[in-house]
Amino acid sequence: MSHLRKDPLVKRWVVVATKRRHRPRKVEECPFCPGNEGLTPPEVLRIPEKKDWQVRVVPNLFPILGDHGETTRSPFYRSRPGKGFHEIIIETPLHNRHIAELELNNLKLVLDTYQHRLREFNDLSWIRYTLIFKNYGRRAGASLKHSHSQVVAMPLLPKRVAEELTSAKAYYRRHRRCLFCQIIAEEKETEDRIIVSNRHYLAFVPYAARIPYEIWIMPIRHQAYFDRVSDDEKFAFAEIIQSCLKRLVKVLDDPPFNFFLHTGPNHLDAGDYYHYHLVIMPVTTILGGFELGSGFYVNQSLAEEDAQRLREAG
Ligand SMILES: [Zn+2]
Ligand SMILES: [Zn+2]
Repeated sequence: MSHLRKDPLVKRWVVVATKRRHRPRKVEECPFCPGNEGLTPPEVLRIPEKKDWQVRVVPNLFPILGDHGETTRSPFYRSRPGKGFHEIIIETPLHNRHIAELELNNLKLVLDTYQHRLREFNDLSWIRYTLIFKNYGRRAGASLKHSHSQVVAMPLLPKRVAEELTSAKAYYRRHRRCLFCQIIAEEKETEDRIIVSNRHYLAFVPYAARIPYEIWIMPIRHQAYFDRVSDDEKFAFAEIIQSCLKRLVKVLDDPPFNFFLHTGPNHLDAGDYYHYHLVIMPVTTILGGFELGSGFYVNQSLAEEDAQRLREAG
């Protein structure tokens, strides 16, 4: 099983999960296809509950974090057991269907499932964060083609999320205003980084995009927690996610990509100063020595130009 090791220089936790080496490079039969349910561990959730499912959730056979966890013994270094959950959300029964081509109702079911899993893990007091993400394409880290996303529930607040919360909270204290609401107001004012919007959401290329065609999707209404959004909002969310992904497929010719959902952690009262948001990052570059050594990203493209191309691809 896995464990976590803390790097004392930068206070960063690393998950050591050696079992993941055994992930098969090639599988004979797709374990996510209907009829092959026996090839996955027993399911956690199936929607609808009868035979012809639309969405299925199963534990990951090669989890990043799992049931037991071990630690290492050192008087100096810190470690902790890699306890948590790692699940796969099979988004469709159709083997070759791109997520951008799912029926809207089907994608809404996927979002319902995200919410269901967040709520379930929120009930566990020792879980500090639940990250939902998707890898599409081998270069984005996906080992299976059949459309799926992943859920990792963990005993720590991830550094990235903690940084966002800290600066959003500081901004709120200083200005008595939500930083995310301010970003949305700013983007609506200038308009040149907006890709598309609907009744509930705004999709744009962020001002300081790290990579070409990075996309942020944010709720226009002030809301920190994704597990509290309504059905109407989830429909609108499904619509805008699909619209953004279709544009990416068109502009970058079906690129590999990652997306992840950041939501307010349930144990922190972030309601005043945070918005849940989805970040989509197409894999267009690899990180070089400068990025690795400095922590800076070098973006070869201009956010405003990327946004324009994505806007016009709709
Ligand atoms: Zn399949
Ligand atoms: Zn806000």
